[in-house]
Amino acid sequence: MLRDACGVIGISLRDPSSSVAKSIYYALHSLQHRGQEAAGISVHDGKAMRTHRGMGLVSEVFDDAQIALLRGSVGIGHVRYPTTGESCIENAQPLLVKYRDGGIAVAHNGNLVNTRALREQLEAAGDIFHSTSDTEVVAHLFVRELQRHDLVDAVRALTRKLVGSYSMVFLYGNTVLAVRDPLGIKPLCIGKLENGFMVASESVAVDTLTGKLVRDVKPGELVVIREGEIECHVLSHNTPAHCIFEYIYFARPDSIMDGRLVYDVRVNIGGVLAEEHPADADTVAPIPDSGITLAVGYHQRSGIRYRECLMKNRYVGRTFIMPDQSMRETAVRLKLNTIRPNIDGHKLVLVDDSIVRGTTSVRIVKMVRDAGAKSVHIRIGSPPIVAPCYLGIDMASRDELIAAHKTIAGVEAVLDADSLGYVSLDGLIRAIGIPKEHLCTGCLTGYYPVEIPGENCNVSQTKITEYLNDTS
Ligand code: 5GP
Ligand code: MG
Repeated sequence: MLRDACGVIGISLRDPSSSVAKSIYYALHSLQHRGQEAAGISVHDGKAMRTHRGMGLVSEVFDDAQIALLRGSVGIGHVRYPTTGESCIENAQPLLVKYRDGGIAVAHNGNLVNTRALREQLEAAGDIFHSTSDTEVVAHLFVRELQRHDLVDAVRALTRKLVGSYSMVFLYGNTVLAVRDPLGIKPLCIGKLENGFMVASESVAVDTLTGKLVRDVKPGELVVIREGEIECHVLSHNTPAHCIFEYIYFARPDSIMDGRLVYDVRVNIGGVLAEEHPADADTVAPIPDSGITLAVGYHQRSGIRYRECLMKNRYVGRTFIMPDQSMRETAVRLKLNTIRPNIDGHKLVLVDDSIVRGTTSVRIVKMVRDAGAKSVHIRIGSPPIVAPCYLGIDMASRDELIAAHKTIAGVEAVLDADSLGYVSLDGLIRAIGIPKEHLCTGCLTGYYPVEIPGENCNVSQTKITEYLNDTS
């Protein structure tokens, strides 16, 4: 199973008598695409912290009664699709840690690569863990640092111990803290609300609350929001390594990341794809939903007419029970159906964002051939995914990735496509408009911006080594 990144929210409202839970709830809805396995909200009312978490979609986890119980003007929220730890309620977030001066709630998007070592150190020192998640290690470390330092220095000391990707929010008394890893791998942005400030994984959450996007949190920056006022501290200066896959697939097209509207980036990618891989075809169609914007770009650049050929049923959820073999075909049709007249007798270009295992494309090529397609040209808005992600996406292991052990011609043969074209890495980078050395391209190149045992490291991006060795 492919895994999405998570989504985080933090909001502080100026008026202590206002209620933040509903706003967090709506904001989490807008980040639902980033994780469907679990959701949670923690709030603070000046005296006590309250949390509600559960497995499932935001709409399944919360109802009006629960929201009403979550009193307070400050809080954080999380939607989860696990990158580490088992799928169970103990690993749902926000995660809570109690200590003698109170409690802390933490929500994390990303993946840390050194938590095993950190956990062993903490266990040796007597800490007891309740979950298998990375986030609990972070919470324990943070509590330790808080006992030695003031707030900002505690976060600085904490981040010096963490290796990997993190866009993290903490609820600490009536304060929201948000911190982004030194490479800015996972997104995080600041929004201004009518009556306070917020941080969110994507700017669509700010739009939803009719706020104004201020800017992205900088790599290595700490944002403190208290009583609706904001304060920022840059804890480290580095060359960023933003996750390239956010642009290709994860982020919603209506989000703005690093000053770029994701929709525009995807239209650009589709355009580059059309230049690099033209096709003898009369119809361009997306593989829904992730291929839609890319297909628009391909259509605009190639002049080939755009016509949808496949319809996705958005309401077939996780809870859908896999049928027996005899019902397999029905199940597939329930999720995805063809628009036969648009396909029958036509030469198609089908555009998708990525091929991971190849399952989706194999199935779709067969479907459109059965519906009468004369030819099927597959175009992909990312270069071949050849290596796993250790930094928050967890897309599959290397042996499951079809392009990790097959040539493009080999993949084309498996798909049974008339042709297969992937956008080039240089073309993709041009479409995004961010220098290559400011992006994490680990899944596409096998070179990562942080040191991962057994993998190649892109040394030009690891200027943080010096900083990590600083153990003050
Ligand atoms: P495949 O079937 O080749 O294993 O996966 C490719 C399909 O999965 C594409 O249609 C792409 O949009 C989608 N995809 C890519 N990455 C992810 C992910 O992390 N999570 C989910 N749910 N789908 C993904
Ligand atoms: Mg897709």
